[in-house]
Amino acid sequence: MAQNSTRQVGRHFLQIPGPSPLPDRVMRAIDNPIIDHRGPEFAKLAKRCFDGIKTIFKTTNPVIIYTATGTGAWEAALVNTLSPGDRVLSVETGQFSALWKKMAENLGLKPEFIPTDWRHGADPAAVEAYLRKDTNKEIKAVCVLHNETSTGCLSSISDIRKAIDAANHPALLMVDTISSLASADYRHDEWGVDVSVGGAQKGLMMPPGMSFNAVSNKALEANKTAKLPKSFFSWQEMINMGKQGFFPYTPATQMLYGLAVGIDMLHEEGLDNVFARHDRLAEATRRAARAWGLDILCKDPKYHSPTITAVLLPEGYNADQFRSLALEHFNISYGASFGPYAGKYFRIGHLGDINEGTLVGALGITEMALEVAGIPHKKGGVQAAMDYLASTHTGAKRAAAE
Ligand SMILES: *Cc1c(COP(=O)(O)O)cnc(C)c1O
Repeated sequence: MAQNSTRQVGRHFLQIPGPSPLPDRVMRAIDNPIIDHRGPEFAKLAKRCFDGIKTIFKTTNPVIIYTATGTGAWEAALVNTLSPGDRVLSVETGQFSALWKKMAENLGLKPEFIPTDWRHGADPAAVEAYLRKDTNKEIKAVCVLHNETSTGCLSSISDIRKAIDAANHPALLMVDTISSLASADYRHDEWGVDVSVGGAQKGLMMPPGMSFNAVSNKALEANKTAKLPKSFFSWQEMINMGKQGFFPYTPATQMLYGLAVGIDMLHEEGLDNVFARHDRLAEATRRAARAWGLDILCKDPKYHSPTITAVLLPEGYNADQFRSLALEHFNISYGASFGPYAGKYFRIGHLGDINEGTLVGALGITEMALEVAGIPHKKGGVQAAMDYLASTHTGAKRAAAE
């Protein structure tokens, strides 16, 4: 920012991996008069949302919509299916898996961790081996993150399902898809997920404060005998009232307006196009980082996240100071770093309502900020990203030549 200036010019570059910037259409949809949450107009709106969100999770079962952040939907998944003292297996992919495990502990469950080095996703073979050792089938749930937002590693949920089946284990599969839903392919029913946990403020392009549980029949069955205390998060009443298009309490009406429009926008683009766009932007970001000569935290390409890239700074340079400098000089926010790599990397979010121009702008800022911060790097990261993005538009090139 220029000296003595109190005004930031133009839009803030919100390049954190959620909340993501709101599309104007969603903002306008939220900017509506409040309606009666027991009236007929509300029921129509809620029905649009209940039906629409199923198409995003790819499920035919009910999806429960909570007026809570993603963390609330984590809690809902656990308390609705498990009983005090139940063993729960998770994979330590990073900060968010650690937080979910901590919550399980707080709720009186017995969580166990398969460790990773925070640079890989969940290894299905390790899950299978762990479950095979549980000969008495005491583990009641396997909790994994589809996308570990703190590191930028995406795990294959269909392979985790196969690993559980190969071990012939009855544990429920619970998946946090908060930072991948509506950005990466996700198939609740087909992949045999029992509870999928989603959030509004990432791929769904909404403000924070709304979250989801998609459920399987097996999860609904487990719900009948689950003994952890629950009230606000209890599925049953939510599902029963949801059938009529209502909630047991006053839901976030404005958020539902936004959700209905956000879902429309995703289908107008086409979900497969949405996923391909995120893949392209992620690849462009990785190419920029490599051209700068900087390492990407996620080590194995098979785990590369389509929504967030964590970039390691060279030894001896502090990523938190880099983020502050970039914010001060260029009005951009990056995600912070955690765990064993705290202070060593910054995260570029590329999810939600983001196009090539926004990404190239963000990468251009990043290259300038690296220069201003005096961080050793090579030039040409933005060029590498642009070359790649342009190369994905070959059809248009032919059309222009005709
Ligand atoms: C953002 C996020 C959360 C937390 O969601 P809140 O809305 O902040 O409660 C949990 N898990 C993952 C993977 C996330 O990206």
